[in-house]
Amino acid sequence: MAGFAPRLDDINFTLNHVADLEQVSKLNGYQHADPDTVATILEEAGRFFSEVMAPLNQTGDQQGSRLGDDGEVKTPKGFKEAYDKFVESGWAAAHMPAEWGGGGLPYLVGVVIEEMFKSANLAFSLAPLLTHGAVEALVRHGSEEIKKDYLEKLVTGEWAGTMNLTEPEAGSDVGALRTKAVPQEDGTYRLFGTKIFITWGDQDLTDNIIHTVLARTPDAPPGTRGISMFLVPKYVLDENGEPGRRNDYKVVSLEHKLGIHASPTCVLSFGDSGEGAVGYLIGEELAGMRHMFTMMNAARVGVGMEGLAISERAYQQAVTYAKERVQGRPIGAEPTESVAIIEHPDVRRMLLTMRAYTEAMRCLLYFTAQEADFATHDETEERRKLAEDRLALLTPIVKAWSTDLGVEMASLGIQVHGGMGYVEETGAAQYLRDSRIAPIYEGTNGIQAIDLVMRKLPLEGGEVAREFITGMTTVLEEMNDFEELGESRDQLTTAIQGLAETSTWLGERLAVGDYDSALAGATPFLRQFGTVIGGWLMARSAVAAKREPADAHPSFLSDKVNTARFYNEHLLPQANGLIATVEGGNDLLEEASF
Ligand SMILES: Cc1cc2nc3c(=O)[nH]c(=O)nc-3n(C[C@H](O)[C@H](O)[C@H](O)COP(=O)(O)OP(=O)(O)OC[C@H]3O[C@@H](n4cnc5c(N)ncnc54)[C@H](O)[C@@H]3O)c2cc1C
Repeated sequence: MAGFAPRLDDINFTLNHVADLEQVSKLNGYQHADPDTVATILEEAGRFFSEVMAPLNQTGDQQGSRLGDDGEVKTPKGFKEAYDKFVESGWAAAHMPAEWGGGGLPYLVGVVIEEMFKSANLAFSLAPLLTHGAVEALVRHGSEEIKKDYLEKLVTGEWAGTMNLTEPEAGSDVGALRTKAVPQEDGTYRLFGTKIFITWGDQDLTDNIIHTVLARTPDAPPGTRGISMFLVPKYVLDENGEPGRRNDYKVVSLEHKLGIHASPTCVLSFGDSGEGAVGYLIGEELAGMRHMFTMMNAARVGVGMEGLAISERAYQQAVTYAKERVQGRPIGAEPTESVAIIEHPDVRRMLLTMRAYTEAMRCLLYFTAQEADFATHDETEERRKLAEDRLALLTPIVKAWSTDLGVEMASLGIQVHGGMGYVEETGAAQYLRDSRIAPIYEGTNGIQAIDLVMRKLPLEGGEVAREFITGMTTVLEEMNDFEELGESRDQLTTAIQGLAETSTWLGERLAVGDYDSALAGATPFLRQFGTVIGGWLMARSAVAAKREPADAHPSFLSDKVNTARFYNEHLLPQANGLIATVEGGNDLLEEASF
């Protein structure tokens, strides 16, 4: 397995030219995060994740986490030491809220740190991802007492958090969950029920684990309206606020799965002894789904990041291999003139496809993260509202488009390796295995597409999506200044028109109540939307690169323009190929017999 080092040139370029780090650093509370300071921080972060986390990726995969005879999970060799360093060095808290002991960096910078961790070691990175979700839920909805007792230790990473939604009969349909929460006279609750697939549901890295658990109170109405959110610690805190007695739940088993072997995926049984697991209500009773969405939106962007991160890692590995592997020769060359496979046009096509999609995903992720910062920190209500709308529209696209591409790019990475990609030695196969979960958890990609079409497209009578799509056309005029971008501009013009057409068609289906046709086209529509946004943001990259002074990083800038052109001229045309699929309707699906 090749090592990993973040491509800081592309990361910094995207932060400053596609997202607007300078503007973000002027927001109240973020003034310490100016672009120069951030560049230095990211260099340090890159070193940490390359040197400490990346070397544990393959060994973590081979050893996996295991359930000991004592009922406790044991993580792979080296994970505990690496986690301690992660906490001590402050990376765990870097973009956590400053008032609770965090570094207070913008979310935009936090996602870059997350990206590096995920590229270095995807399975390991899931532990802090879920802790961040728990922090967000407590900051927004926790009582003062809960905040005082739990937040600081979660923020620093001394304790870890989890998300407990799924049950055997409640997957995509979270409203079907049955776990019970019985109120006690002292204001606490006792929880009874089984949760499955709980990521990092137990581990030996932290002194306590703080589970956020969805459950039903006794007279709750059916469905999502009857769900409340509870905090259930592994160890109930004693009078000094320290982990005390073991709470009443147990780890029944760990799943054996395709990838992310180092991440323990637990079946948890609450109230196993009959006493019930001690839980504390987070926020209001029956508002659990609303509160959980606070965690889920950030977690969905975080999972979208997994698509980008695994693509980056797979791309780096594929380039290294393609430069070393000697096989075949150019047409007409002598039999003795074998070349490295990176010389073959088809291999170069695969590599540039990987790089172009990876950079396009990076653009989308950073642009979305910046909007999250504007939504929470901008002074004007108008900008906050615009950012909230964009965030709502983009979240399902970030999650589903990026994670589908993550799998495809990891698969392409294997193809570059030929047979050596299919065997485990090079590590290329691990990337594909690890990537495959991302389109499934945090709401399957099918559910994301439904969210996009049924909830996001109709926002403000369709105005949010219309404005966003129209807004993409402004780059076309800027592209006119550069003859080299002419073909890209023509392709982007056509693709934006195609997206406007399918959005209108879907809007019309919804307006007449033909939901099945709209739902049948939802997944290809999301793919089309993501592909076009990628084209728009890569076009912005190309324009920015063309505008940089000629003597500033000439090879990086010409590569950037070349990659953006490849995206827009070779990959983007596929977007309009999806129009027929989006508008294909439901008739054939309905008539099919299986
Ligand atoms: C490794 C791993 C880690 C996980 N981590 C966590 C965790 O930490 N916490 C947690 O709570 N859960 C976790 N999950 C659970 C995960 O979120 C669920 O697996 C996911 O939500 C899908 O639910 P399901 O598996 O029951 O599939 P199902 O809901 O049965 O879906 C099966 C298929 O049907 C489709 N489908 C379902 N309903 C609809 C619909 N209404 N319309 C159209 N299509 C539909 C889905 O898109 C999917 O393709 C994890 C799962 C795994 C495998």
